[in-house]
Amino acid sequence: MGEFELIQRHFQRSNQTPPGQVVLGIGDDCALLQPSPGHQLAISCDMLVEGRHFFADTDPAALGHKALAVNLSDLAAMGARPLGFTLALALPSAQDAWLSGFAQGLFALADLHACPLVGGDTTRGPLNLCITVFGELLPGQALRRSAAQPGDDLYLSGRTGEARLALALLQGTDWALQHTAPGALHRLRGRLERPEPRMALGRALASVAHAALDVSDGLAGDLGHILHASGVGADIHQALLPVAPDLQALPEALLLDCLLNGGDDYELLFTAAPSDRAAIEAAAQRSQTPVHRIGQISTTPGLRLHKATGQPVMLTPRGFDHFA
Ligand code: ADP
Ligand code: MG
Repeated sequence: MGEFELIQRHFQRSNQTPPGQVVLGIGDDCALLQPSPGHQLAISCDMLVEGRHFFADTDPAALGHKALAVNLSDLAAMGARPLGFTLALALPSAQDAWLSGFAQGLFALADLHACPLVGGDTTRGPLNLCITVFGELLPGQALRRSAAQPGDDLYLSGRTGEARLALALLQGTDWALQHTAPGALHRLRGRLERPEPRMALGRALASVAHAALDVSDGLAGDLGHILHASGVGADIHQALLPVAPDLQALPEALLLDCLLNGGDDYELLFTAAPSDRAAIEAAAQRSQTPVHRIGQISTTPGLRLHKATGQPVMLTPRGFDHFA
């Protein structure tokens, strides 16, 4: 199978009418996209590298799903609507079964969010997947990291920590095996391998929330990005942090590490004025997404965790850093 046959067989879908925003898809030197009148483009790019972001034996369909999910999640965190995406693919060899599994996972999620594949590049090399996603939003509505204001409520969609625990179980880590029930990995694996980007919530928040980002490298570390960009501090209340059933048997220090420093959650962390609580509730309802108020933004710099009793604990944001 040559390069062009590979693209045609696995990535070019001639049996489908592309959505209206795609003037020209795969096959020419460039794709042509038509954003809605008066909209801005929102563009994001994320790379997945074998051995770094996923194991070599990961189910190719899950990989196709995740490669697009992490990119869509960035659009959600900005409040954007997807228009399309490109796929740059380096493959050690052209294996038909692997490619069709990958394409199946990729296109299932793409179709769910009406985000068509419009182009890409294919080369031989160590397995590496790079997706660039294009979205649109109205000027002034983007949810920027720099927009948090003192007094804002701090919210989290869904819950954090399950992907971290799944990873620890997959790696056979002692603490994870010791404190989880049998079957936990079976339940948790999807949280690591098939994150669901919070697209509907992100768009519902676009005209209401102030700052937002998607939690990919740990809640505390990623919140640190909002605090830094906005020049504010924050207080989190431990009692308000949602805890998944599979995490409930973890000793407190491990539990907090999963909740605050885990990675791969792809939940939205955002701030909004207390006067907009009803609007946030409505956005959560409309998008059928669970949302928890976990703390607030403060003029006092730093990030504090308040426990049920005693002095608050200062948190040092330490999200994952590839070069630390
Ligand atoms: P060029 O020579 O301009 O780099 P290519 O020969 O790499 O073009 O690609 C031919 C067409 O196939 C282009 O429209 C390109 O966008 C598309 N394409 C290549 N690889 C992929 C891929 N992995 N997924 C989707 N489209 C692809
Ligand atoms: Mg090319």
